[in-house]
Amino acid sequence: MSCSYAEGLSPYEHKGKLGLKEVFESDESLVDKVKQLSKWITSSNHVVVHTGAGISTSAGIPDFRGPKGVWTLEEQGKKPEISISFNDALPTKTHMILVKLVEAGYVKYIVSQNIDGLHLRSGLNREYLSELHGNMFINQCSSCKRQFVRKTATTSVGQKCLGLNCPGVKTNGRPCRGVLHDFILDWEHSLPEKDLDLAHYHSNLADLSICLGTTLQIIPSGNLPLFTKKNQNGKLVICNLQPTKYDKRADMLLNGYVDQVMSLLLENLDLKIDDYNPEFDPVRKKGIHEWTIPDSKVSEMKKLYEIHLKQRKTSDEDQRKRKIDDKSEVIPLKKNDINKVEKLENDDTDEKTVDKSLDNENNAKCEDGGT
Ligand SMILES: [Zn+2]
Repeated sequence: MSCSYAEGLSPYEHKGKLGLKEVFESDESLVDKVKQLSKWITSSNHVVVHTGAGISTSAGIPDFRGPKGVWTLEEQGKKPEISISFNDALPTKTHMILVKLVEAGYVKYIVSQNIDGLHLRSGLNREYLSELHGNMFINQCSSCKRQFVRKTATTSVGQKCLGLNCPGVKTNGRPCRGVLHDFILDWEHSLPEKDLDLAHYHSNLADLSICLGTTLQIIPSGNLPLFTKKNQNGKLVICNLQPTKYDKRADMLLNGYVDQVMSLLLENLDLKIDDYNPEFDPVRKKGIHEWTIPDSKVSEMKKLYEIHLKQRKTSDEDQRKRKIDDKSEVIPLKKNDINKVEKLENDDTDEKTVDKSLDNENNAKCEDGGT
């Protein structure tokens, strides 16, 4: 259950704004907005979707900061009354619609804060997904860093040593001698490097960012959608029941259930949803399945990102020369710089820090016999 995940995390006080009142706009209003959104999607070059716990509540998994969220209730000394086992939860309409939108080429990438593994189980290909806070259904090797799909959700939290040998084989044909750890980050852990790099590259390339079911309070993940605003005509769309940190920056706000909004969107794009199919769920498949992001994917996106930065810089310089606008200066997007900038701008928010020393310390403990 997500409570067990939450209870497994270290104590942490700054969990952001909790239990804000949910807002529901009329069906008519949502229908009109989704019509407009579908036009934006078809006319955009690089659509990136950012997902949070709100897309999994219809699967029976409580969110964290909603009126009945895990952190909201924790503050009141309570626990969620309904919480399905991660093993029993299945991808929601929104998860399945996202697979369809990726397959149809409308969505180029998904950045998720969710650890419930439902994007994996929906059949989404790994090359379209960053999992910034981990995944209950993934083990990661301490040595080769390759990731492997689990058959059941992990019961440990915080990248603990599982005492299992890595099934990976080195390029010389010898078995990897690393040990598997769970892939669930605790508050102080570094974000997974390749997931974070790809999330940065895609978020910067995005000319349309769509946020689904997140209050955008955790950084850096909550700030990534804003990068789209640095691009000419870049648009930010937020679909959430509660107010979010960046409602005022949004070009469109949809206060409705994500499943309803995404179903309307699919209709507008003349597509049909595929039901969840266990045959495409790596958790249900026999044998060993890898979930590692290929290095080639990261270097490919890095090149595109660098080209994009150059173009944007040139465009900005041209604008300055013409004295049209000198306020859109490009901030170099190195990871450490981003974290510094965001810290200054967002003192009131949670954060997942990028502290390599803590990560290394965790691995060292494990090599000493596990934690
Ligand atoms: Zn390994």
